[in-house]
Amino acid sequence: MAGRRVPARSRATIVEDAPVTPDSPTISAPAAILDGLQGRDCPVCGAPERGARPFLSASVDPERIGALSFASRKPPEYMSFRLVRCETCETVFAAEAPGAEALARAYRDAGYDSAEEALYAARTYAQALAPRLGPEHRRGTALEIGAGSGVFLQELLDLGFAEVVGVEPSHEAVAAAPAALRPHLRIGVFEPGAHRPGSLSLVCCFMTLEHVRDPRPLTRAAYDLLEPGGLLAFVTHDYRAPINRLLGRRSPIIDIEHMQLFCPASLRRLLGEAGFGEIDIGAIRNRYPLRYWLRLLPLPGPLKPAGLAAVEALGVGQRSVGLNVGNLLSVARKPL
Ligand SMILES: [Zn+2]
Repeated sequence: MAGRRVPARSRATIVEDAPVTPDSPTISAPAAILDGLQGRDCPVCGAPERGARPFLSASVDPERIGALSFASRKPPEYMSFRLVRCETCETVFAAEAPGAEALARAYRDAGYDSAEEALYAARTYAQALAPRLGPEHRRGTALEIGAGSGVFLQELLDLGFAEVVGVEPSHEAVAAAPAALRPHLRIGVFEPGAHRPGSLSLVCCFMTLEHVRDPRPLTRAAYDLLEPGGLLAFVTHDYRAPINRLLGRRSPIIDIEHMQLFCPASLRRLLGEAGFGEIDIGAIRNRYPLRYWLRLLPLPGPLKPAGLAAVEALGVGQRSVGLNVGNLLSVARKPL
């Protein structure tokens, strides 16, 4: 990881199609995330950034960075750092990004506004993961990195896991956890030293791997913490999925909180280099209420509120709809 610091002045170059001048008078506190951006090399294979191809130019408007910018399942903002694609492993990554501490602060202070959606997502992931779990996994301990309000931990308990632990940096997300799940949640970022090596039967990291500064140490630490035969499960976006290629910058995956974006090849590289065997990567269908799908759609201006009003008037806003929206479930086994 290169620790090149980007001069503060170059923040102006980050703002390309944003209506803000370099000497804009007021920059809100959350925009402090833009101070001290650091240059990075490929976060999956380590290849230098200078060998990467342009993927998407930067689009950052400091005035639009709010408390929900670093929250899960918020309305899309279509902002991103400068993204490049690694020629070696195909990972797309932010060539300049906030430091680990700035990111940890942003997620600590992140708002939480997705209780209902979190329940649907947890159900989707549990149904996709259940067929991969053997009795040897269920009688062990599962760890979820980026556990939000803990609703997936409840799914794991329902699947028969003896013990579940979640780590989550957002105070607001943990405060929204059901009382019964609070004892299973720890507020903070993932710290491998907090767990005994070889003690876990499952490590989950869902819709979180794009957000961390360094996915490699996270993946290696998960490997060390798993018992032989234990499973690591990721849910990530797939930037190569047709829907994301079609939407381009208007895709919800284009997001200032995404430090990297994956495809099957880059995930295989990440998991293989950490030592995992039996790597299985496939698309999953997310099930959400119709009103949530509509909120995600990149509709112009008044069309979105009109569409939302229409589905509510028809009484179908709550109806559950399953769609392949370019998400991948990766399950990898630590060799025996
Ligand atoms: Zn790479």
